[in-house]
Amino acid sequence: MQAAIAPLPGVLSLCEVADDPSSPSPTTTEQRVALRLSRAGGGGINGSAPQLCIFDAQGAQLHSLTLSPGSVWRASDGVLMLRPPAAGPSLLLRALDAAGRQALQHLLAAAAETSARPQDAQQPAAAAVSKQADERQQASDDQQPSSHFYSKTDKGSADLYFHYYGCLQHQQNMLQDYIRTGTYFAAITENRADFEGKVVMDVGCGSGILSLFAAQAGARVVYAVEASDMAHHARALAAANSEIGSRIKVLHGKVEEVEVPEKVDVLVSEPMGTLLVNERMIESYLWARDKLLKPGGKMFPRLGRVHLCAFSDESLYGEVAQKSTFFQNSEFYGVDLTPLHRPATQGYFGQVVVDQLPPNVLVSNCVSKTLDFLTCTEAELQDIRIPLSLQVAVPCTVHGVASWFDVLFDGSQTQRWLSTAPGLPITHWFQLRCLMEQPVVVSQPGATVGGELRLVAHNRQSYDVHVTLRAPPLVPGGEEQVSHGKFDLKEPYYRQQMQWLQQMVGAAVPAAEGAAPAAADDEAAAAAAAAAAAAAATAPLLEGLPDLAAPPAAGGVSGEQQQQQQQQQRRQQMDVS
Ligand code: SAH
Repeated sequence: MQAAIAPLPGVLSLCEVADDPSSPSPTTTEQRVALRLSRAGGGGINGSAPQLCIFDAQGAQLHSLTLSPGSVWRASDGVLMLRPPAAGPSLLLRALDAAGRQALQHLLAAAAETSARPQDAQQPAAAAVSKQADERQQASDDQQPSSHFYSKTDKGSADLYFHYYGCLQHQQNMLQDYIRTGTYFAAITENRADFEGKVVMDVGCGSGILSLFAAQAGARVVYAVEASDMAHHARALAAANSEIGSRIKVLHGKVEEVEVPEKVDVLVSEPMGTLLVNERMIESYLWARDKLLKPGGKMFPRLGRVHLCAFSDESLYGEVAQKSTFFQNSEFYGVDLTPLHRPATQGYFGQVVVDQLPPNVLVSNCVSKTLDFLTCTEAELQDIRIPLSLQVAVPCTVHGVASWFDVLFDGSQTQRWLSTAPGLPITHWFQLRCLMEQPVVVSQPGATVGGELRLVAHNRQSYDVHVTLRAPPLVPGGEEQVSHGKFDLKEPYYRQQMQWLQQMVGAAVPAAEGAAPAAADDEAAAAAAAAAAAAAATAPLLEGLPDLAAPPAAGGVSGEQQQQQQQQQRRQQMDVS
């Protein structure tokens, strides 16, 4: 029975999570909700326990939860995690705006009445091991953050980001990218000389996999730093693999905030996002270098390169252009939608397209930008300008700029490249394209498309991408063609996932032959074989791909190269299946 009703302001996004670190499979469903706080019996502030009701957009009640001591076990400015008294999924409430944050504060205050220190009551068991560190983390979560990380990051963005990485299914997606994981495995374990007896830091350790590799390669101690709650799972993995794991110390917190007892000899990290720099985690990697790496220390990876190439893809263009035709309807239940057609079109063309791009859409040479992680500064990553000079081999419509990246592991025993180039076995990064709403037409073979791709960092852990293309006039004496496009790197159109899933399923079958003898029947062998095959496949492409002496009708890559790549890809699949 509900008497005094205190409605909460604001509409929040609700995320249902089974967030118990011991649960192997968190489930996540998100939707916008409205909240209402009421008090059974109307006892005012000292009356019965407050009750929270959560409604969907149609007003249907989704959850009702009595706030009891221990209900709130994790809170920060824009996020509140609640546990029902009985068994059931935990709830994670995330504010979408200022009103939402106010609502959460309100809720937090109500929950606080129920217990002096509710968070302590139900700390998950797995966290108890490092309770002190977690309490420090909790304290920093509760405050308005003021670290270097937060000087450039919107808190709402960070909360969402670390919640995402706190879910095992997203870590699994990366772990099962055998090209990625296998290349890291090979790069670390084949460079034992760089790890044996050394102090290592894993920046953003996630599940802790790279820390375990470093320990396998003989590291004396590995500081595994992880900001998300995945740190609990990393501890569990280290504990379960105690022979190597006993040398791993998981530090739960942001690398910009944790206290590390000593400087390190080696940094390992997997900070790459699409277009290399998305997520802005490379900046955390550089921060760790400046604060925590000994002079002359090693970085795995040591450098990254972004490659850009013109593409021509009529079917992608048609597909995206067609998406907004819905808004050309002037009789939608009697409503004229047409004023929204233009902004909708702009919105669709403002998305970066992420998919496995067929190499035969590439129509020019590549230009590349190298970031040397040993020397590059955080300031250089705030505004990255890459001049374009793309020679287009045959007359065609250039629909935009395609991109991918690679990173180098510059070990003292072996060098390894991890490449996400088109035509190679696909990775979870796929490739990325900036599709221009206004394509340019190249009418003369060999004409150069100039311009620039510029990346401007924003505080939601990503970049605005500004692309300018300049092409010669269509007719002699005419005007130069100029096209501008602005894209939010954080707003991708994930176009195609099936090939990825198929490859993962194929690659997950353990290797029978050609794998490392010591581990012939396990996944490490499959990973090593996949990595070796990928590295072999990468070799002819190290300069960023297409050799465009060949006509683009056969693709940006010559027909022979393409055939070669397909063979390598098939070989790689045979190696791992
Ligand atoms: N190293 C793992 C995970 C890579 S994903 C692997 O290779 O599988 C990147 C991880 O870094 C995420 O788990 C993310 O939560 C973490 N991370 C990102 N920025 C961080 C920061 N500033 N401090 C600590 N961890 C961070």
